[in-house]
Amino acid sequence: MATSKKSTQRLDGEAHNRLTTSAQESSSSANSSLSSMFLDRNRKLDSAAENRSSTSCDAIENKERKIDLSGIEGEQSDKRDLASCSSTKKSLCEVCGSEWSQEEATDFACYTCYEFYWRSKELRKLYYCQFSGTCMLDNTKIKNCEYCRAKKHLGLDKKLNKEQLKKLESEPFDLSMVQTLRIKYQQKEVERLADYEFLLTISHSHYTNCDYIAMKTKKIMLHPAISIEKESQECSSKIADATCSEQQKHSIFECFLGFFAKNINSIVKFAKQIPAFLEFSLQDQRIMLKSNYIGIWMLHLSRTSELLPNALIFSDGSYFTRQQLEIMYHFELVDLIFESISSLTRLRLHDDEVGLFSALLLFQPDKPGIGDRDAARIYYKKICKALELVIRINHGNKDEIFAEFINGIPQLQSLHTKHDEMLQMFGRNKEESSKFAAIIKESFEQTFA
Ligand SMILES: [Zn+2]
Ligand SMILES: [Zn+2]
Repeated sequence: MATSKKSTQRLDGEAHNRLTTSAQESSSSANSSLSSMFLDRNRKLDSAAENRSSTSCDAIENKERKIDLSGIEGEQSDKRDLASCSSTKKSLCEVCGSEWSQEEATDFACYTCYEFYWRSKELRKLYYCQFSGTCMLDNTKIKNCEYCRAKKHLGLDKKLNKEQLKKLESEPFDLSMVQTLRIKYQQKEVERLADYEFLLTISHSHYTNCDYIAMKTKKIMLHPAISIEKESQECSSKIADATCSEQQKHSIFECFLGFFAKNINSIVKFAKQIPAFLEFSLQDQRIMLKSNYIGIWMLHLSRTSELLPNALIFSDGSYFTRQQLEIMYHFELVDLIFESISSLTRLRLHDDEVGLFSALLLFQPDKPGIGDRDAARIYYKKICKALELVIRINHGNKDEIFAEFINGIPQLQSLHTKHDEMLQMFGRNKEESSKFAAIIKESFEQTFA
């Protein structure tokens, strides 16, 4: 049937071309006789096609083509017949909800959705949703939200592949190599889909919880976190130098603590929105966060570091100068903070890479005390693999970016240790120590209650 239809269309095309050429060369009478010859031929071909057609829909399609050419009345009613008949051949795309023809079949989605999904999956494209991943509730919105579109398609694809795997495994085992290979291929496919889903959740969680993504920091307005005036007022000449420096330290510390708490909370939220992270025991989750948050924090701060040299700039534009930090922290620690930030800045990372690197730090399997080290190692490897691909796509063949980040991890770890030591040092000042401890406790302990 399809062949006969195609040949009809091809012949129609040839006849039409000849008709057009003739129209330019011949008189109007010659033209009209050629037209009627063409119409007759067309009717014959159509009626032959109609006789061969096996379905009533095809018959109506052919009939309509004939009616169009001859201009006979009753066209409207035939068109209605065609529309109702066509609708039986179409179904709704399970992803975007639009109507699609079964001829472009991709199991459950329209061709546009399938193409978008295939490209996203193969290139490990990472998206995020501005509406907390709920666009799937409204089919009119889903085409605008790449994250929800990819996620919904991925869910359906995963379900289908799992069903196929189950079916294959339930078939009587005939010891043939073919069946074994088919099962292995299907298992691999299910695994690949789960990997992509894992990466998508990291990306979405990063965009949702991190205040340092390019879109947000682009509009940043810089202003001192603590005004110099306030500092100097508190430090009037009547007060002795030692008291003055203690007061300065205290006011910088008080102010800094607020920003620190906000950042730590966003890192905790980032982790807790990744389903793979929640698979770990509460004890493991605590260790993973507590031993890696400084590295992730540095990654965040590296996003704003070029706006003002020698300053720590928070996402709302508030900044602390290096001198202010040196009053609060030790010189050595401040040096290490700025060194870490500048080496991360040099990598020129994209937002999706910052999200993946944050997750890479979080899932490091070698942290002392982690119970499920094997699971952490598996996730860590998945992130490494994805990062290598994403970096290649974003930066061309600059493989050294990945290597440089990995080589920089010990520096971040040493910063983390020094920061922990600094927290212990605050023990000399009971009040400050307890405030820092409260922030840490609130972020890492109470959130797991
Ligand atoms: Zn669709
Ligand atoms: Zn969405």
